[in-house]
Amino acid sequence: MKLLTNEDLFELVNNISKNFFYKPFKHDVLFNTRLRTTGGRYIPARKTIELNSKYYFEMDEAEFIGIIKHELCHYHLHIEGKGYKHGDQAFKDLLKKTGSPRHCSPLPSQQKEVKYKYKYICEDCKLEYRRIRRVDVKKYRCGKCKGRLIVASTQ
Ligand SMILES: [Zn+2]
Ligand SMILES: [Zn+2]
Repeated sequence: MKLLTNEDLFELVNNISKNFFYKPFKHDVLFNTRLRTTGGRYIPARKTIELNSKYYFEMDEAEFIGIIKHELCHYHLHIEGKGYKHGDQAFKDLLKKTGSPRHCSPLPSQQKEVKYKYKYICEDCKLEYRRIRRVDVKKYRCGKCKGRLIVASTQ
C-alpha cells in the first residue's frame, strides 16, 4: 500500500465527502499514530478528523473508507449545528443514509488474545499454569516449588 501524504489524505476525505454527503470537506484531516483501538475520531474544537494510520496499513480500503465516512458524519452534523454525537438521532440517521459503519472493526494486530488449551496445577502449591501446547508432566515440574504438575483441564 502506498504512503499517503497529507494532501492525498485530504483529497481522499474530500472526495468521499463529495460522493456520499454531496458537500466538500473544508477542514483538517491528519493521521494520528497514537490512536490504539479506534479507527478515527473527530475533534469538534478544531473541526479536525484524526485517522488511525494503523488502520490504513492493516485493513482493506473499504474498511478505511468506512471509518472516514463515520467521522464525516460527526463532522458535517457538527459544522451544521446538528446533533453530531453517537447518541443523537441526527447522527444515527446520517450513518444510515450514507451507509457508514457504527463501529470500526478491531485491528488484526489488536487481536492478540491467546487461546490456552491446557491447564495444569501444581499438586503441592496449587499454582496454575496455562499452556498452548501439551506439557510432559513427567519431565516438567512446578517452577515455584518443584511439585508435580497435574492436568486440570483441556479444552
Ligand atoms: Zn464516532
Ligand atoms: Zn508448586
